[in-house]
Amino acid sequence: MGTLLESFLKGKNLNENIAEKLDLFMKLVLEKNKVMNLTAITDEEEFEIKHTIDSLCALELIEQNSSLADIGAGGGFPSVPLAIVLPSVKITALDSTAKKINFIDEAAKNLNLKNLTAVTARAEDAGRGALKEKFDFATARAVAALPILVELIAPMLKTGGKMLLYKSSDKELKNSEQALKKINCALSEIKNYTLPNGDERVIIVIEKIAATPTAYPRQYNAIKKSPLWQFE
Ligand code: SAM
Repeated sequence: MGTLLESFLKGKNLNENIAEKLDLFMKLVLEKNKVMNLTAITDEEEFEIKHTIDSLCALELIEQNSSLADIGAGGGFPSVPLAIVLPSVKITALDSTAKKINFIDEAAKNLNLKNLTAVTARAEDAGRGALKEKFDFATARAVAALPILVELIAPMLKTGGKMLLYKSSDKELKNSEQALKKINCALSEIKNYTLPNGDERVIIVIEKIAATPTAYPRQYNAIKKSPLWQFE
């Protein structure tokens, strides 16, 4: 394990057992990455900064004993690092690609993560079906533009639930106020942070303040063609 991740974990009072699991997960991803496209990052130090540490920057925003869905989990970010560090939180990793979900499922077994479930589904279908209003929190990292994410995720949250949206800046929030009201959501906070390599990042926290109107989520084509707001 690199010294940057080691000192990040020390700063959060996280123990060696956690460090070992995070390290094993990185090795599982990099091994699988030889036969399947999970990440463009193959250097271990860069991986620890841009995947592991970045994933864990939402830690303080998530309550113990809650439920969390990770939308578009891909190779398991941020869901797997969060599941390693937050054993009391029931995490569901969701992605539309079955191969990626099978990898997360295998990794959860390897790492003995009893709090992590992996589900193959499109977010917009899950939000109308089995996963409607099921979660206290939802995360999404590198999945879609903010106006698309809000519509995909809001239906899956309980009222009062929060989405934690990992972004490189808050510029996609521009012109969002009225549109967020329309879907019964509101901006709660913006967490700014700097990764150990100096990269600036934000986590945009949006709260679901009342049940999602039945018109949402629309079919993906309609969401993409006519997103809730335009930010440029
Ligand atoms: N979150 C991971 C990360 O930060 O490394 C993976 C990001 S990857 C670039 C985006 C993932 O979102 C892909 O695996 C894709 O299959 C998934 N995805 C995109 N739209 C989706 C949707 N509507 N429902 C479910 N998964 C979706």
